[in-house]
Amino acid sequence: MSKTILILPGDGIGPEIVAEAVKVLACLKQDFGLDIELTDGLVGGAAYDAHGHPLPEQTLALARASDAVLLGAVGGPKWEPLDIAVRPEKGLLGLRAELGLFANLRPAILYPQLADASTLKPDVVSGLDILIVRELTGGIYFGRPRGVETLASGERRGINTLVYTESEIERICRVAFDMAMKRGKRVCSVDKANVLECTELWREVATRIGAEYPELTLSHMYVDNAAMQLVRAPKQFDVMVTTNMFGDILSDCAAMLTGSIGMLPSASLNADGQGMYEPIHGSAPDIAGQGVANPLATILSVAMMLRYSLDEPTHAERIEQAVSTVLDQGLRTADIASEGTTTVGTAAMGDAVVEAIRRA
Ligand code: NAD
Repeated sequence: MSKTILILPGDGIGPEIVAEAVKVLACLKQDFGLDIELTDGLVGGAAYDAHGHPLPEQTLALARASDAVLLGAVGGPKWEPLDIAVRPEKGLLGLRAELGLFANLRPAILYPQLADASTLKPDVVSGLDILIVRELTGGIYFGRPRGVETLASGERRGINTLVYTESEIERICRVAFDMAMKRGKRVCSVDKANVLECTELWREVATRIGAEYPELTLSHMYVDNAAMQLVRAPKQFDVMVTTNMFGDILSDCAAMLTGSIGMLPSASLNADGQGMYEPIHGSAPDIAGQGVANPLATILSVAMMLRYSLDEPTHAERIEQAVSTVLDQGLRTADIASEGTTTVGTAAMGDAVVEAIRRA
């Protein structure tokens, strides 16, 4: 039976980059027999403009019925004055919550062709291949009580709560450990167990589940040290697993090791393997509509989708190989251009990837 993919272009550069990813999917369908059906919908500011809500019911229904969702990006200055409840980002958070996407996978891979795009020395980052597994639906971003209250003295007090159950910790650890078994078999669990009881529990559960994976090397690191080690010697890591907030921060740090935000894909999975796939960058309003955005992060997100939700690893490899080929050809969008390379626009980059897939 055909697999269904919901396409949500979103705002800003979203429609431009998603159009290139759709070209890649169309090529795999037409030329290589990939059995998929695409539907599309509105999310974020575009959905607010059309329906008054960043996650309309019809988009949510389509998402629930799909095997996977491909999202561009949401947000932009136009919607910033809106009430927080209907801001574009709520569309994204709503999808994560409604689909139960608890596992966020963010690879930070440095293509050898782009070694000098990093701000770190090439020998520190060349060959970098880290996978950060971030818990996405729990922790301090969702814990209660939360809010800002006014004390009897008149002073205000802000409150957020870090909370994890054992089962929440266990399921994210299992995702990370299973991923590691298909890679370098090393996991570093990141916590702050010396200060936060909640992450003391995290460490205890991670250790217990880790014992079920005898071939796996599990280590633990405090988050402050992990941040330091990521910029000091990032190649020591294979898979990192951590809480929602620590993962938010560390994965952005890891992304920057690679030098280009326009190259990095991500996946968010639920317990059934259904997933939402999106580039890690935002809607880049500063370059929207100019045809210069880098579509490769979105195209690589399609590769992750094929691997993790559609069980089509061969097609995923086709895409990853084609991206490497176009980089070998010296083609670069402006964000990754350097001396001696050829700068191309969004559509030309997408066309080059399609061509490389066809010719492989
Ligand atoms: P951003 O990632 O959109 O842009 C940061 C910088 O990177 C900009 O200079 C931009 O031009 C550049 N950039 C990003 N993607 C690029 C690409 N594919 N090719 C070339 N250059 C690229 O982050 P921001 O400026 O902080 O946020 C802009 C908007 O995006 C905000 O409304 C924010 O809320 C939203 N946002 C959305 C998501 C999401 O949809 N997942 C994530 C982050 C930010």
